[in-house]
Amino acid sequence: MIRLYINDTVAAISTAMGEGGIGIIRISGDDAIKIAQKIVSCRNTTATALEHRKSHSMCLADVVDPVDGSRVDEALITVMRAPNTYTKEDVVEINCHGGIMAVRKTLQLALAAGARAADPGEFTKRAFLNGRIDLTQAEAVIDTIQSRTEIALKAAADQLEGGLSNNINEIAERVADVLTQVEAAVDFSDEDIETLPLTELLDLLQKTHIHIDELLATAVRGRMIKEGIRVAIVGRPNVGKSSLLNALLRRERAIVTPIPGTTRDVIEETVTVSGIPLILKDTAGIRESDDHIERIGVELTKKAMQTAELVICVVDGSNDFTEDDDALIGELPCTPSILVVNKSDLPQAQSARARYKDNKINAIVELSAYTGDGINQLESAVEKLLFDGDIAAPGTTIITNARHEQLLDKALHGLDEAIALLRDEQPEEIIAMILRDILRDLGEITGETVTEDILSRIFSQFCIGK
Ligand code: GDP
Repeated sequence: MIRLYINDTVAAISTAMGEGGIGIIRISGDDAIKIAQKIVSCRNTTATALEHRKSHSMCLADVVDPVDGSRVDEALITVMRAPNTYTKEDVVEINCHGGIMAVRKTLQLALAAGARAADPGEFTKRAFLNGRIDLTQAEAVIDTIQSRTEIALKAAADQLEGGLSNNINEIAERVADVLTQVEAAVDFSDEDIETLPLTELLDLLQKTHIHIDELLATAVRGRMIKEGIRVAIVGRPNVGKSSLLNALLRRERAIVTPIPGTTRDVIEETVTVSGIPLILKDTAGIRESDDHIERIGVELTKKAMQTAELVICVVDGSNDFTEDDDALIGELPCTPSILVVNKSDLPQAQSARARYKDNKINAIVELSAYTGDGINQLESAVEKLLFDGDIAAPGTTIITNARHEQLLDKALHGLDEAIALLRDEQPEEIIAMILRDILRDLGEITGETVTEDILSRIFSQFCIGK
């Protein structure tokens, strides 16, 4: 059972720590206004007492240490009365000057005046516990904060607006309708009551199945949006892997040097292609070697290729291809792969297309990491290969959260079972039990049936002050 907070007022710094224009201390709970009143003094207003101020209005005030009356900072105070607040509780926000000292001192004063230091994500947790948002919306708040791309932000915004909740509620409603019918058949089995025919119940469950299938089909895209795609850049030494990484980043990061085999560690960087983060790994050249350190590099290359979701294999087009090139290209895993023929700004030695046409390569791109010519073609090739050229947000709900995916998957298995049993006209009690389990799984997504344990796990990922 979920514990509700009663008579407990919390405070935290809600802005990022560091120098900035303003820093915000947020206080939420029954005593928020009373506590704030102890440490601020409003200026230039007829209603100096916070408790008399209009909800959602600001006033200029001094933050004052009640112990000695000394002035800590000048601030703007916003009083927001329950229930129209982030937490549905009384909330006071103190906008101090940014920087570490003013906000920290103001928080200390709020704590000394009776507030408890908020746990990570506690404001959002209260919004959930007080029924303003459901769990998927609370999770969308973390996603919004952690978004690194526009598409990720869009997906989080849809979830925050209730896009996923609406889908889950619709699915749950249909399952509950079927459950009602099945339970009626159990409870009134001796009586002659009207229940929907079997075919209609099956039809309802099939529709639900399709709906969950459609949601789950978005999960691969969701994972890409949120976590990015692991890309391994491989090739023998000196073909220009680090230069390519730099060209993609359009800034220097890896050390570019003409001495072969100097990129000995795997360097990881993220670039965004059409809104999807690509996590690029530049590895040391793959080749048989007696040099211990380089051998480690070779192992890393093989591992990077195996764990990558896309391999970019680089060869040097200005020199004859070598046996090492052939060996590496021969070793490419079944992962989608692009062959980059680099150094196109120099006279080309031979045709990679002719030589490697029979290998497991999905696309060949000629480019110059040095001048940047052809980098766009590489980006288009990545987009076409991974997303079939269709990367734009589809305007529908996308499953971006592994927890939601697992629970939907579980619900889908339950549905398979329920449909099979219903079709075989098996005992209603068993079918009802399975349908109840499905409803519990769906409720766990929206937070209706969630345990305190799961809640703690979710909210511990939040930052303090959110
Ligand atoms: P890596 O060992 O595969 O990472 O290769 P580097 O990126 O360190 O590049 C090796 C050498 O090739 C350096 O001298 C680069 O300046 C040069 N190089 C890389 N890409 C190009 C290119 O597109 N054109 C030319 N002309 N030189 C390049």
